[in-house]
Amino acid sequence: MIQSIEGKRGLPRQRPPLIAEAGLFGRPTLNHNVETLYWVPAILRQGAEWFRAEGKPGHPGPRLYSVSGRVARPGVIQAPAGSTAAELIARAGGMAPGHRLAAFLPGGASGGILPGTAADRPLDFGTLDDLGAFVGSHALIVLSHRDDVRRTALNLMRFFERESCGQCTPCRSGTAMLATLLADGTLDQPLIADLDQVMRDASICGLGQAAPNPVRSLLRFFAEPAP
Ligand code: SF4
Repeated sequence: MIQSIEGKRGLPRQRPPLIAEAGLFGRPTLNHNVETLYWVPAILRQGAEWFRAEGKPGHPGPRLYSVSGRVARPGVIQAPAGSTAAELIARAGGMAPGHRLAAFLPGGASGGILPGTAADRPLDFGTLDDLGAFVGSHALIVLSHRDDVRRTALNLMRFFERESCGQCTPCRSGTAMLATLLADGTLDQPLIADLDQVMRDASICGLGQAAPNPVRSLLRFFAEPAP
């Protein structure tokens, strides 16, 4: 966005420097999402303690969760920070008719794929680290027993392959290779682990760094171990 405002091609920048030090036209810049700005007037009017009390213990504040997939009423739901997938599904009217919870994406395309057994985990920053997942922008996507998690992972990898700006090789080639490995069913774990590491270490921005997450989740929670 900053590149575009400056009239340049909209490519992610190398960091450092962080934009708080050198952002728009080289000046210190703050970049917040809409939800953060949305809460500012209410916090100014009602105070920080009110805001903190709207969340669950240890998870301050209310949160806007985007809930989609196999639920009865998909949409944006305001709920206490630290709500679980099970609680958010209940607020979305429960599972869609004919669907049983099997898996969910806690943080949109990048946040990994978790089995339904993790639906009682609080969804907040850092709460899913041990599962290799994260909440990101709090976009919960619910899958049922009628969904094929491997096809979901492939769909996500093709999305990342399309969305990669192509600026750096680990992301540009890594997303394409992972999509190919998923499409032909070759879950070559050493090769995937190698790609995963290179993409995490050497991609410029979060897209390339997080793109292997669906495949990693697939291998950890949903695939048979390699013979
Ligand atoms: S990680 Fe991917 S999206 Fe990000 S700069 Fe590199 S090629 Fe572009």
